Amino acid sequence: MKLKIAILAGDGIGPEVTREAVNILNVVAEASGHEFTFTESLIGGVAITANGTPLPQSTIDTCLDSDAVLLGAVGDNKFNSLTPDKRPEAGLLQIRQELGGFANLRPCLAFEALSENSPLRPEVTKGVDILFVRELLGGLYFGQPREWNKQTGEAFNTMRYSKSEVERVAHIAFQLAQKRRKKLTQVDKANVLECSQLWRATVDEIKTQYPDVTVEHQLVDSMAIHLMNTPRNFDVVLTENLFGDILSDESGVISGSLGMLPSATIGGKVNLFEPVHGSAPDIAGQGKANPLGAILTAAMVLRHSAHLEQEAKAVEAAVTKVLAEGHRTSDIARGNTAANVTTQQMGKLVHNALAESIDRQQSLHAV
Ligand code: NAD
Repeated sequence: MKLKIAILAGDGIGPEVTREAVNILNVVAEASGHEFTFTESLIGGVAITANGTPLPQSTIDTCLDSDAVLLGAVGDNKFNSLTPDKRPEAGLLQIRQELGGFANLRPCLAFEALSENSPLRPEVTKGVDILFVRELLGGLYFGQPREWNKQTGEAFNTMRYSKSEVERVAHIAFQLAQKRRKKLTQVDKANVLECSQLWRATVDEIKTQYPDVTVEHQLVDSMAIHLMNTPRNFDVVLTENLFGDILSDESGVISGSLGMLPSATIGGKVNLFEPVHGSAPDIAGQGKANPLGAILTAAMVLRHSAHLEQEAKAVEAAVTKVLAEGHRTSDIARGNTAANVTTQQMGKLVHNALAESIDRQQSLHAV
């Protein structure tokens, strides 16, 4: 199989963590005989410096001509005086729009070795494996009309969804649930909002097409509590845009560090993969960045664009192994486990663990 991957490393720690993610994809390609090609393009502050714009047309063209886009992070304080539409972050918003993905996937995994890093008790987080599916192009963030009228002192936004917008993201969530533990929790505020009533009715209509998936509905306020009390009860969580933004960030406390969180946006012309964190200018260039969020993002490339589920699981297992051995970048160091590796060393450890597990698998097959 051939996969063309556009690499947009971006600013700050973006290039440092993306390099490690690409190394991991190369291990998989070499071992499995698949051909992954990488084309690097500019986005964010580095693109402003080189081309005067945060998203050059050549970057858009490269992305649209690829099978997947892997992005590091954008943002550079030296452009803070520019208007929002000219700053590095504008490039990120624009590429998301160009690629058109409407389903934002945010896994929330609890790594047992990091259980001390979460403010939640280890017995609460143990074994948590949730996949948030957040609708990304509709709802309050985009609905018209919207206005802040400074004369009258009033402001308003519009939460608006069409049935087809709900259907398309719901189908993705059901299909993902079928490949996992077959449970789908749909989150809304149907006791108050008509939009939520549309979501609930649409999901109930669609669920007849997925008889193997158990569906439950939760109100967003009680869901915020359940996520902290009993996170193990959830498998796939489907939400509209605003609720998904808040709940997936809330669940970040389960994994213990922003540097551990991957994401993917699918359903559009080309899938977009990016770690959740930003460009972290406070630690950029110091070898302190945790590359595991980017490496877990590479696992999502394998799962959702290359359809290599076994290989994706092998990458996740390699990350689990390296953490269990006690290796820590500074963001995930706690108590007796001091920071003992740089970005590059952490990447290399995962690389080696993955290569070893692939070798083991191959020699088992050869027997
Ligand atoms: P941030 O995610 O860059 O950093 C927040 C804190 O987490 C910092 O202390 C940072 O050192 C730490 N951190 C983040 N990622 C880490 C990692 N992989 N390893 C270790 N520590 C890590 O968020 P911020 O400070 O609010 O924003 C910095 C810049 O990034 C801004 O310009 C912002 O606009 C941009 N940003 C970009 C994205 C993106 O590209 N997707 C997302 C958020 C913020």
